[in-house]
Amino acid sequence: MALTAWMGIALAALPPLATPPLRARPPVVVVDPGHGWSSLHRSYTGAYNRWADVHEDPLALDIARRVAGALSARGAEVHLTREGDQEPSDYNGDGEQTNRDRSYFALNLRRLRPEASQPRADLYVSIHLNASPDPSDRGTTVVFSEVGPAAEHVEESRRLAEAIYGQLSRVLPESAPPFAINGLYMDRLALPHAVVEVVFLSNWADLQWILKAENRQTAAELVAEGILEWWGSFPDPGVPPRRGGAPAPPQR
Ligand SMILES: [Zn+2]
Repeated sequence: MALTAWMGIALAALPPLATPPLRARPPVVVVDPGHGWSSLHRSYTGAYNRWADVHEDPLALDIARRVAGALSARGAEVHLTREGDQEPSDYNGDGEQTNRDRSYFALNLRRLRPEASQPRADLYVSIHLNASPDPSDRGTTVVFSEVGPAAEHVEESRRLAEAIYGQLSRVLPESAPPFAINGLYMDRLALPHAVVEVVFLSNWADLQWILKAENRQTAAELVAEGILEWWGSFPDPGVPPRRGGAPAPPQR
């Protein structure tokens, strides 16, 4: 489909959001703007990017801030793993600033932020932009880990990923349904989590779409909507059910 036709559909097809009921306690959410450290690591996927002046990390930061704003506006307690165009802090004190700090931050929120109302985050969402050697690859992708400590919450993570993917697919081409990617730092995320690759920077139509601020805002609001839809699908205040406890259907 021609770029203009696709973008016209994408911008026109967004109906009013159906807001699910929030549980009594709003969620504590860690929003992670992907990447952001040394110039060599601005993007894991930069090798496929055909446009040298487009980088993943500032776009991830911009979208993550918008996600945080949309969640905060609806009562969620939100913490960003990095506040600006910088490396994440050395939260675990090992002398290095890596993805380990992102998972440590999510799991140790109360100790790091004594004012936090809950002992740790209810969920972790990381924002990225995808890239592929095939320039025709496009659309939104949401992944999670199902091994290591992350295995404890795999069904919750899958449902979270599906909720976010379902919302983003209202305006973006579907790429592949949410799937597990194991062996990366997300394995250490012993809480519900999702890694959102909003669009492919290596696809011209996706790139032109995400470079527009209003589209980044739309994407961010849909990510927030997916998070709150997922949160509202659990029947009682408190932490989501542990492994083995099937969540109840959404309460209306
Ligand atoms: Zn990335």
